[in-house]
Amino acid sequence: MRALTIQPAGDRGRLVLSDVPEPSPADGELTVQAIALGICGTDRELATRAPRSPAPGRSGLILGHESLGRVLTAPAGSEFNTGDLVVGIVRRPDPVPCMFCAKGQFDLCENGRFTERGISGADGFGSERFLLEMDYAVRVDPALGLAGVLLEPTSVVAKAWEQLDRLVRRPYRRALVLGSGPIGLLAALLAQQRGMDVHVVDRVEQGPKPRQAHALNAVYHTRVDELTGTFDAVVECSGAFVAEAIRLTAPGGATCLVGGVDPISAGSVNLGELSRELMVHNKVIFGTVNSNRRHFEAAHVALQKADRNWLEGLLTDCVPLEEWRSAFDVGPEAIKSVIRFES
Ligand code: BGC
Repeated sequence: MRALTIQPAGDRGRLVLSDVPEPSPADGELTVQAIALGICGTDRELATRAPRSPAPGRSGLILGHESLGRVLTAPAGSEFNTGDLVVGIVRRPDPVPCMFCAKGQFDLCENGRFTERGISGADGFGSERFLLEMDYAVRVDPALGLAGVLLEPTSVVAKAWEQLDRLVRRPYRRALVLGSGPIGLLAALLAQQRGMDVHVVDRVEQGPKPRQAHALNAVYHTRVDELTGTFDAVVECSGAFVAEAIRLTAPGGATCLVGGVDPISAGSVNLGELSRELMVHNKVIFGTVNSNRRHFEAAHVALQKADRNWLEGLLTDCVPLEEWRSAFDVGPEAIKSVIRFES
C-alpha cells in the first residue's frame, strides 16, 4: 500500500509516496481505511527536515496526524464496528508516565518523553490503511462527512477555549482571533458558539478566509491597528501579534497562544513592561499545544453544532493522493489542504 513517508536526505528530509507493507493489527488495535488526511503547518515543517524521532527501528516516518478513516477490522466484542468513522488521537503518553500522563492528560506531559503519531517517534495516519489503538480512536458522526477531518485541529482549539473558560474573569462579550488559518477560524467558530461578538485579523484581503469569517458574523480586519477597545478573550494563532494580543486583552481577560510562533514578526518584548501590563490589569497569558480525549470529544460536539457547509468551506484544497504534493504548496489565501485517499 502507499504511504506518505518522510525519509532522511542528508541533513534534510524528503517526503515521498512510498510502498510500505500492509499493517497487521495487534490486540486492541483497529485496522482503518484512510479517507482523508489534513495537512497543517507542522506537516509542512516536518516534510523538509530529517526526522528527529523516526518510527522505532527505522530512519523514516509516515507523516500525518489529522486523520479521518473507516474501520476495516475491529477486535471481536469491541465497541467498534466495521464501517465506523474514526479519527486518531495524536499523542501517546510516556511509557513511564509523568503525573499528567498517568491521568490521561498526556497533552500536558511534563517530561517530553511522549510520542506523537506522524510527528515524533510513531508512524502517522498518512497511509492507505493504518492501525489505531482503540483507546486512542474517537468515533465520528457520519453526518459530518469529510468535515470529520477537522476534528484534530478543532480539538487543539477546544483545549484553548476550555482554559479560557476557566481563566477569563469577565463576562464573555468580545473575542479577538489573530490569524485566520484553520486554527484561527475554528477558534472563531468556538467563540461564536459561546455567543461572543467575534473579531478576526489576518493580512489576507480576499478569498475564503474573509468569507468564512463573515459567514460566522465575525468582523474581519486586515490590520491590527484598525481594532478599537479591548477583548475579554484573545486567541493568538498567527504567531506574529503576541504583543498586540496582550495589549488588546481587557483587564481580567486572557490571551491564549496557540499554533506556533513566528520568531521574526513576533518582535521582542520588554519584560518589565509586559509584567506591568499583566499585573496592573490582572491579565492572564498562557500557551497551549496538543489535546487529549476530552478535547476531541468537546471538538466533536462543536463540529456537530456547526453549519456543515461552513465546515466544508474550510477545506479549500482537496486533492487525491496522487497529487499529494500540491497539498504542501498552497498560497496565503488557502485555509485547509486535505489529501483524499478515497473519492
Ligand atoms: C498538532 C499537535 C501537536 C503539535 C506538535 C500540532 O500540529 O496539532 O497535536 O502536539 O503539532 O508540534
